Amino acid sequence: MTFELYLLLIGVPLAFGFWAQFRVTSAFNTYKRVPAASGITGADAARRILLNAGINDVEVVEINGMLGDHYDPTDKRLCLSTDVYNDSSIASVGIAAHECGHALQHQKNYAPLNLRMQIVPATQFASQILPFVILGGFFFHMTGLITVGIACYAVLMVFQLITLPVEFDASNRAKSILQQMGIIGPGEEASGVNAVLNAAALTYVAAFVAAVGNLVYLLLARRDSDR
Ligand SMILES: [Zn+2]
Repeated sequence: MTFELYLLLIGVPLAFGFWAQFRVTSAFNTYKRVPAASGITGADAARRILLNAGINDVEVVEINGMLGDHYDPTDKRLCLSTDVYNDSSIASVGIAAHECGHALQHQKNYAPLNLRMQIVPATQFASQILPFVILGGFFFHMTGLITVGIACYAVLMVFQLITLPVEFDASNRAKSILQQMGIIGPGEEASGVNAVLNAAALTYVAAFVAAVGNLVYLLLARRDSDR
């Protein structure tokens, strides 16, 4: 395999990932400084959206750490980072609404979310053994491990692929609900929410591209070693 091919399959997705991460951080930092006219905090926005959708069994909780916000479908907990929970900026309200989008998907039995939940155990197993597989394959030249690596990246790729409609749908729900409920105004406020959520969506695209790159790379490496 040529170095150019390695760069294309591994380097370019990696750079894309860093760039996407940078975009999220900068969009978040920009719109964290812009207060929403409604003056509602992320936690308030989340509770109102859930209530409005008739969801009474999801708890909104504060967690430590920056941008660790997520919806936990198993425990029905909507976890918002300190920054998002207590803050009434456009960025915070947008992220809180996005997580509510996942709770709404759960309530409505949105098929891609269910599918994603089902393959979480396989994905966790694949990402746990992957470092050992890579280590064994490259340092000890155990070529049989390439096939195990291919299986791991195939699982991760499928997971990242299913993640895409789940994330895009949650953001679309968030954008329209924020408008409908008047939590975010049209024009500048709405475009701020779009900027934050679209940047976040890009990181999921980058994760998918990285998984595809790694998978193709290992498939080519196995073909080369078979020669
Ligand atoms: Zn999400």
